[in-house]
Amino acid sequence: MRETHRQEFREFCDSVTQELVSASIQRENRVGWVSLKPTDGVGFELHSGYSLYEGSLGIAVYLAAYADVTGDERAETAARQAVAPWMEASPPLASFSNVGVMVGVGAVCYALVRVGVHLSDPSYVDKAIEVVRAVNHSRVRDGRTDVNFGTAGLLLAITGLLQQRPKAPVRSVGRSAVESLLTSGVKPSPDQLAWTTVRDDPTAGFAHGVDGIAYALGRWAAVTSDDRARDAALAGCRFSDSWLAKSVDPTGQQEVVSWEAWCWGRPGVALARAGLNDVLGDSHPWLANQAKIYASQMGDTPKPEDCLCHGTFGDIALQCEFGATIAETYRESARELAINAVKRATTAGQLRLPNERVESVARPSLLLGIAGAGYATLRLLAPERVPSVLNLSV
Ligand SMILES: [Zn+2]
Repeated sequence: MRETHRQEFREFCDSVTQELVSASIQRENRVGWVSLKPTDGVGFELHSGYSLYEGSLGIAVYLAAYADVTGDERAETAARQAVAPWMEASPPLASFSNVGVMVGVGAVCYALVRVGVHLSDPSYVDKAIEVVRAVNHSRVRDGRTDVNFGTAGLLLAITGLLQQRPKAPVRSVGRSAVESLLTSGVKPSPDQLAWTTVRDDPTAGFAHGVDGIAYALGRWAAVTSDDRARDAALAGCRFSDSWLAKSVDPTGQQEVVSWEAWCWGRPGVALARAGLNDVLGDSHPWLANQAKIYASQMGDTPKPEDCLCHGTFGDIALQCEFGATIAETYRESARELAINAVKRATTAGQLRLPNERVESVARPSLLLGIAGAGYATLRLLAPERVPSVLNLSV
């Protein structure tokens, strides 16, 4: 990477951090953020939440990573204050109706582990263990299955926790999650497994689709040597391959994947497949091959928004991942895309985010706001210290 890019990337991350610290709302020793959410196409509602996706937990992960890379004390303090409610003797877990890793108990676990690792403070990881142990097994079984909101997301958070703390007493909750996924799956054919998430029928995809669930099962299998979870992961991939093959049916009989992003579409599938190939080793060479094919179908149409979930910085983060797992050329594309986006945002004085027309209101969040743009850029600066958040690495 040319030095000039490093400097521009660093300045961009500095400005994102400055904006997040300025926009934070202080109350005693805690901080929070608000953003505007569209309601009915014309109105907005004030949103202030805890989630990793759109709330303070996601912002805390960015700030902790930034503090780790730069040594910035304001960012460290804000990160600690943002997760302070979860460090209480009785964290407010009842406020979550989900267990997912973007929205739910899994988000608390993932964010605490990441803050603990970045700030070299094991008390956050200790608390993450407590949070997972407090999850009622029936909640794991009776809720949704997808990564963002459901059981697969909790499983990813637990697996990340075990990677940091192999002896953490959380395996029984993980086994419950696996059992729940194994029993709630449907079998479209004898060698396939699929889950219905937010649509009427199972679909491919990372955040809400079968691929994210398969990836979660595969990562668990790699950490625990659970062959049933591994086989279920592979069966999920087989479903997804056949679903994606049908979804480009030129007769138009099947629904075409509507978004080409992390949340929906082939780039998310490629991310899941590359991640599975990484954790399951070379025993299933078709995984690497499929990752390559789906990544190559990503397309180069510029995204209208800049968010990490389905915008320009999402493309940057995905290409950064593909550069590490699929082919080196993606790394250079990620840097080019990033320098152009950073220059454009610097010139315009803002990113293109949902609701950008509402002046003076920041979108601070990780998946839809400036924290995510900062995160993807920070990862380009220090990939060894800033893991991929889109595949929930720790
Ligand atoms: Zn999205």
